[in-house]
Amino acid sequence: MTTTPQIELTGVDKHFGAYHALRDINLEIPKGAFVALVGPSGCGKSTLLRSIAGLEGITGGAIRITGNVVNDEPPRRRDVAMVFQSYALYPHMTVRENLTYSLRLKRASKDEIQKAADEVAHTIGLENLLDRYPRELSGGQRQRVAMGRAIIRRPKVFLFDEPLSNLDAALRVHMRKEIRALHDRLGATSVYVTHDQIEAMTMADQVVVLRHGVVEQVGAPLELFDRPASRFVAGFIGSPAMNFVDGTVVDGGEAVELDLPDRPRVKIPFALEHGRPVTVGLRPEHLTINTSSDLAINGTIASVETTGSSTVLTMKSETNAKGISIALAERSGLAPGDTVALGVDPKHVHLFDRQSEVALTPDKRVSTDQ
Ligand code: ATP
Repeated sequence: MTTTPQIELTGVDKHFGAYHALRDINLEIPKGAFVALVGPSGCGKSTLLRSIAGLEGITGGAIRITGNVVNDEPPRRRDVAMVFQSYALYPHMTVRENLTYSLRLKRASKDEIQKAADEVAHTIGLENLLDRYPRELSGGQRQRVAMGRAIIRRPKVFLFDEPLSNLDAALRVHMRKEIRALHDRLGATSVYVTHDQIEAMTMADQVVVLRHGVVEQVGAPLELFDRPASRFVAGFIGSPAMNFVDGTVVDGGEAVELDLPDRPRVKIPFALEHGRPVTVGLRPEHLTINTSSDLAINGTIASVETTGSSTVLTMKSETNAKGISIALAERSGLAPGDTVALGVDPKHVHLFDRQSEVALTPDKRVSTDQ
């Protein structure tokens, strides 16, 4: 038996005048899923979310919520609630009044309003702040009120538009966990826009990577990390970002000679046509230092950044302007100017077609058991 997706987008297109902001978006979001929309600035994340909310009309395709086409339904009839980065709280209303605004509009009874406010305040941990005004709250508390205001409407779907962008780093990490826990507790379906791939990776069940209004890839966080479908996704997911080096397939198809000064050769996880131009992707955490292995990229350390728990080294290279990053879980003892040789296990080598930038796989998948 197939269940109807909570949200289903088929062939969704959106033009702003001549500008094509969303192109043929096809997406199924099951009930209970937490889905993150990520991508660089301007890729169409907010436009897609606003289209689901009904704040933006689409110019082609269909949006279904629990099976019903809602293209022409206004936001209030879509049974969705949106939480914005700006919180959008009413400054002249207390927390209680902000929380219950939608119920008061619907002319719910006083008892009902009181009960709902108490329940939601308890859910979001604001019981003691109900009589305060937004200006008397911290950023995290304001964000909680904004969520409470969405929860009180008991919508089928929560839509979040960069809700944590205004918070400092520590609070963001905390609120990430809170939002996810709340989603699980309420059994909600959530769509969450962020430009922060770490936020997407840590919160979502499914991540949708957008680029220029097109879905590049949809997958579970580790699937995107382990098996990126394109050079773009490979470079976008993961921090520090994947290293890319152009090269040519050699050795009867079993290795790639890299366009680096010593022309190092890297063994590849499956055979390709001899002479094929490719781009090799090497994750910084998969490179090892001063080990004998199938790859020996020799170079000089240009910089060492350490957080205490991890170290990121950058190796200079004349032909690779950005250098090559190496991420170590331990301290390295290396300093700028030191010379090193890098190694990589062939099973961790990613390959992309140089022209189309699509990932090359033996059967549409690179086997990488991470
Ligand atoms: P950001 O992370 O910067 O918020 P985003 O991925 O959310 O970016 P959108 O806000 O969805 O991007 O915008 C997608 C594209 O559509 C952008 O190029 C933007 O300039 C354009 N756009 C958005 N709204 C309008 C509008 N009302 N009129 C014309 N163009 C628009």
